[in-house]
Amino acid sequence: MPHLKTVPDAADFAHVTEWVFDLDNTLYPHHINLFAQIDTNMTAFVAELLKMEPAEAKLLQKKYYHEHGTTLKGLMLNHAVDPAAFLERAHAIDYSLLQPHPELGDAIKALPGRKFILTNGTVPHAEAAAGAMGILDQFDDIFDIVAADYLPKPASATYDKFAALNKVDTKHAAMFEDLPRNLIAPKALGMRTVLLAPEVTADIVIERWEKISDEDVHIDYLTQDLTGFLQALQQK
Ligand SMILES: [Mg+2]
Repeated sequence: MPHLKTVPDAADFAHVTEWVFDLDNTLYPHHINLFAQIDTNMTAFVAELLKMEPAEAKLLQKKYYHEHGTTLKGLMLNHAVDPAAFLERAHAIDYSLLQPHPELGDAIKALPGRKFILTNGTVPHAEAAAGAMGILDQFDDIFDIVAADYLPKPASATYDKFAALNKVDTKHAAMFEDLPRNLIAPKALGMRTVLLAPEVTADIVIERWEKISDEDVHIDYLTQDLTGFLQALQQK
């Protein structure tokens, strides 16, 4: 079995001055399932665009997601879709599922240095979500899929572009993410990497997440509690 660390060792983060956070299922937990609404909107967009039944549209949407990293990339390449129209529709969701989270805001605020959101979503989506949680003010900048020229994580070029634009020294950075594959490039760039796992109690799911890590040498830490993890970092 792998030995992923779950309790942060402050020494592992002592050099970190650039804190980079994914948004969806990272800054808010997986069980909120905000993405289910986005997913439904994307399927509806595809169904209307291509005049398909919802089930057929969903299959195509998933095919594009798996082949291109995002549904949008597949739609742009195969159907010349206007990305702005798609993104606006995809993110027309109810953010009231997100509650203010002052403890998380305080924990982010206490981190030394700059804080960023690096998302495959959009700036308006990140602002709405982080705003609903009351943590938006803690971030220096948001790097989104538009800034990435629609090339989503895990493409290494997207991390390079983010780092260049913000003059981030990746050797002094840490990345928090819920998708293991999105930590491969950050690790290669010298970043400290933390994987957010869903809050689950079923042992079998825990076991599955731990097993993923057998080959995931690019993951330094695994946590189910971002706030607790950041708070523990600050206890000297
Ligand atoms: Mg995510």
